[in-house]
Amino acid sequence: MTRIKDALDAVAAAIIAQKDYLTDLDRQIADGDHGINMTRGFQAAMDAVEEMDDTTKPGPVLETIGKAFIHNVGGAAGPLYGTGFIKAAAFCDENTKLNVASFEKLLGAAIAGIEKRGHAKKGDKTMLDALIPIHACFLPENAEGKTLFEVLQDASHAAKEGVDYTKTIAARRGRASLVGERSIGHEDPGAVSSMLMYRALYNFLRK
Ligand code: ADP
Ligand code: MG
Repeated sequence: MTRIKDALDAVAAAIIAQKDYLTDLDRQIADGDHGINMTRGFQAAMDAVEEMDDTTKPGPVLETIGKAFIHNVGGAAGPLYGTGFIKAAAFCDENTKLNVASFEKLLGAAIAGIEKRGHAKKGDKTMLDALIPIHACFLPENAEGKTLFEVLQDASHAAKEGVDYTKTIAARRGRASLVGERSIGHEDPGAVSSMLMYRALYNFLRK
């Protein structure tokens, strides 16, 4: 057991616990499989990481998680999250530490990868509407003078604000864009899964 593997288990457990909730949200505006997709992705990721000889370094673990999502999850979110994990992995090096600068770098790389692959941007009612505000908290202009845990807490609030924002807008990307304006009033399932993943990691780190 390594701390990275424990963190993965904690995040996976949080998502799997909310499988039905995520699926219900997706059913309201799309095809009702987001919880199933995310559960499948995290189960495949935990299995793949279990097979690794060395789980002490974040880069190879993140890459393994990303590949597991891409290879095992149908639907939009699996390959998009998979791309995010793989892009974050590529930015890991010997300087990657549990600090604000590393969070900023890895999250920024993940978001850029997701944007490129899915052609979505902020305000399209997707996972990005949670991920971008989370990332913003780690930027130097917002994190200046704060401890890592203060920034992690800011980002936890920002994630919720991002999810709440998705309720106010119509989907312009993904399956939910098919119902357009009718998606207003509903949370975006991918934004909620991003918030849940982030908050599970935050709760794990502050223990
Ligand atoms: P599918 O939409 O194929 O059924 P999921 O239900 O697992 O896949 O995932 C839906 C979520 O994926 C959406 O709630 C949204 O957050 C996210 N999503 C869909 N399309 C995009 C996109 N082009 N860019 C970013 N996120 C997207
Ligand atoms: Mg779906």
